[in-house]
Amino acid sequence: MPARTGAEFLDRLASARTHVEIQGETLIGGVAAHPAFANVVRTYAGLFDMQHDPRYRDILTYPSPAGGEPVATSFLIPRTPADLIKRRQAFEVWAQRSLGMLGRTGDYLNSALMALASAADWFGQTDTAFSRNIVAYYEKVREEDLLCTHTLIPPQANRALAASQQAGGALMARVVREDDNGIVVRGARMLATIGPFADELLVFPSTVLRGTPEDKPYSFAFAVPVDATGLTFIAREPFDYGRSHFDHPLGSRFDESDAVVIFDDVHVPYERCFTLGDPEACNGFYTATDALQHMTHQVVTRTTAKTEYILGLTTLLTEAIGIGQFQHVQADLAEIITTLETLRALRRAAEADAAVNAYGVLTPAWPPLNTARNLYPKLYQRFPEILRKLGASGLMATPTEADLSGAAAPAIDTYLQAAALNGADRVRLFRLVWDTCASAFASRQALYEYYFFGDPVRTASAYVAGYDKSEYVARVRAFLAEP
Ligand SMILES: Cc1cc2nc3c(=O)[nH]c(=O)nc-3n(C[C@H](O)[C@H](O)[C@H](O)COP(=O)(O)OP(=O)(O)OC[C@H]3O[C@@H](n4cnc5c(N)ncnc54)[C@H](O)[C@@H]3O)c2cc1C
Repeated sequence: MPARTGAEFLDRLASARTHVEIQGETLIGGVAAHPAFANVVRTYAGLFDMQHDPRYRDILTYPSPAGGEPVATSFLIPRTPADLIKRRQAFEVWAQRSLGMLGRTGDYLNSALMALASAADWFGQTDTAFSRNIVAYYEKVREEDLLCTHTLIPPQANRALAASQQAGGALMARVVREDDNGIVVRGARMLATIGPFADELLVFPSTVLRGTPEDKPYSFAFAVPVDATGLTFIAREPFDYGRSHFDHPLGSRFDESDAVVIFDDVHVPYERCFTLGDPEACNGFYTATDALQHMTHQVVTRTTAKTEYILGLTTLLTEAIGIGQFQHVQADLAEIITTLETLRALRRAAEADAAVNAYGVLTPAWPPLNTARNLYPKLYQRFPEILRKLGASGLMATPTEADLSGAAAPAIDTYLQAAALNGADRVRLFRLVWDTCASAFASRQALYEYYFFGDPVRTASAYVAGYDKSEYVARVRAFLAEP
């Protein structure tokens, strides 16, 4: 099956028997019909449909190397600058449609799989089976257009201990035994965004593992279908409360859901394993394969679209209530523009300085992408803060859609009018601002951006450690040594 339509995505979901625990309810399948997921699933179906829309299909798809049918562009192995630009344009189309609010659109992990499969030789260093497995899995996901999520982090019980020592080693997902055709996994991982309605769960390495025998059972990378026997998702409370798009414009469309993942003796066949019992391979998983560069290329494109949305929204807000002439308001807009242009410049630099890596893949330059990865978690936090400051009491003067046709309608029209909008349109705009900066959905977005690439504190340490400072140190040393 080539690039899927929304209907094909929904058909597959309808047959999945995914085990989800949500608000005291147990689901075994039927996720798409559940009110917590129905709207966001529809949004995802719309993204799949775009692959067949004449306006976007030439950007969103390319001919499969295995038969020529259109497959998603995020699987394209970039060999030329034009390939890299095509990939970015495809990221842009989906990111702009979702205002940058969806972090697990398929293009994110498709990009990872593309890079991992291209680096098949690296996987083959310990066992040639792993190199065959990663290529076969990439091709399967590409040809079936499967939606993947991932889970990386050990449970948050006691960060003073190594993850593998929490509760005597009984918490973190680990290999408890092997049989003739695979491994058996028990324990938990955090967190799988979109887990309940994805097709596949990538259980990949994240935290740095020590090369000790105790860490071996925790050292793996594999993939399982989300409805594998023994796999359970414990989903958080939804922030889509079943209200209209008018009332909750973002939460009613883009609430992706996040879930703790429990492995209760999940059997994983060897052909779905990409590394096993090898902490060193786990620690090099993203960097030695350059997967991180392609994932970050997608993320920077998404965060650029999100920042464009924030700029558009903030501008409309200032126009609506006539505050655009105040200097501190202009300073806030300047801050958003500065972030936007910084992201654009970094992405452009990464593309301009792209180089072919050891596996023949044209790879965006890492220093500019790494800079964006370190900046955005902090810069994004300012956007809701700015919107709250500028929206002020207007964010709470937000009657619902029902009020617009109720007894309060004439008063809303009169007293909630804005300099540039009638009462109803002002309420519509302010509800969107509220859902971007003050609702539960908005709060989750801020948390998500902060922790998107892991803990920014530790990401910063890696940034410093990996940055070549030697030339500058030598220059200062030389200056100090001058007579
Ligand atoms: C909305 C959301 C969606 C997510 N979706 C996914 C997903 O789809 N897949 C996935 O795998 N993960 C996902 N995550 C998890 C994300 O990767 C983690 O939040 C992130 O890596 C931080 O880990 P943690 O939450 O366990 O925080 P912790 O590591 O527990 O950190 C908590 C605090 O303690 C500090 N701290 C802890 N340990 C140390 C240390 N050793 N050194 C210095 N400071 C320390 C941190 O700085 C932080 O302030 C998601 C998280 C959020 C919030």
